[in-house]
Amino acid sequence: MTRRDYYEILGVTRRATRAEITRAYKRLARRYHPELNPGDEEARRRFEEIAEAYEVLSDPKKRALYDRYGWRRDEMPEAREKKTTDIIFEGFDFNAEESFGDFLEELFGPFEQKRARAPQRGADVEVPVALSFEQALRGTTVVVTVARSQTCPRCEGRGEIEGPVGTCFRCGGTGRRPTARGPLRLSVRCQQCEGTGRSAPICPICHGETRIPVQESLEVKIPAGVDTGSRVRVEGKGEAGLYGGPPGDLYIVPNVQAHPFFVRKGDNIYCTVPITITEAILGAKIEVPTLWGKAMLRIPPGTQSGQIFRLREQGAPSLRGDVRGDQYVEVKVVIPRLIDQRSRELMREFERLNPENPRAELMHLAGLLAEEPHEAEAPH
Ligand SMILES: [Zn+2]
Ligand SMILES: [Zn+2]
Repeated sequence: MTRRDYYEILGVTRRATRAEITRAYKRLARRYHPELNPGDEEARRRFEEIAEAYEVLSDPKKRALYDRYGWRRDEMPEAREKKTTDIIFEGFDFNAEESFGDFLEELFGPFEQKRARAPQRGADVEVPVALSFEQALRGTTVVVTVARSQTCPRCEGRGEIEGPVGTCFRCGGTGRRPTARGPLRLSVRCQQCEGTGRSAPICPICHGETRIPVQESLEVKIPAGVDTGSRVRVEGKGEAGLYGGPPGDLYIVPNVQAHPFFVRKGDNIYCTVPITITEAILGAKIEVPTLWGKAMLRIPPGTQSGQIFRLREQGAPSLRGDVRGDQYVEVKVVIPRLIDQRSRELMREFERLNPENPRAELMHLAGLLAEEPHEAEAPH
């Protein structure tokens, strides 16, 4: 059975807008609707054809796939299949894989242009390293052992060596190799023999894999300011490429230990520092620890517990440039336990001189300023 082009079925051009497609569909659907044409087989067939064309062309994703690849393979006319398919679909469903076009791109590159042995970049490799808080802050050098692959030196990445040509060792002579992704099973042209089914003998070193595993110790400089979540790239130290493609990169992934006192958030550092009641009341200059040594912090008179002060550029170095973050110091007033009589007398004296009620405003806002308190229920 020959298939008609969806655009042709709806009588629109390939550049038709969605509105034009919908208009054409409604017009034709009214004309061929089975209920309006009882017993008319031809009308029923046309109606189904119209509905199918509309289902695909009215959906931008399906339309893009159709524009690019035509019908599903199991419905493709023979001539079309020969022209375009270097892959064989099994169970391809328009709804199964949303980004099917992207997937094909990834697998084969721009359709029909990709050669079997096109160069491929090697995969990136990640290696985690544990760093202390200070190492991450100041930068360090680590030695990492990387398990990666190298292009086979014997066959120089071809997988085969000089010798008599026989049955391809990779595909067993079929010229095709199975591959799978998600729900899709398909087969691609064998890269070793480029689909001919015949190849030179297998390389005795890499056994046709074109790459060999290597363990390598590398010294890597970790810049000041890395944190958990940053990555340090070492160019070209990932997996070897295929068919002359460049190698991938190595990424060092730091896992930075917490500090007992400082908390780091991005480039800023947070800490809590205790101050005395008199420092809070009278003001003071106090010493506070920073990542870069002791710093002087001025506490103004009348400072409240929980107030936060900023020490400019005392935080962590920024990976983005020659600047540092800030340090935020939260002060916490420590209330002393008075044990001597004299201190107590002084505090009572202080209270007499400062009779303000800090809850007056609260009672006023609650509308209770003039009320007598009632007895609160005692705990059991
Ligand atoms: Zn082959
Ligand atoms: Zn080899």
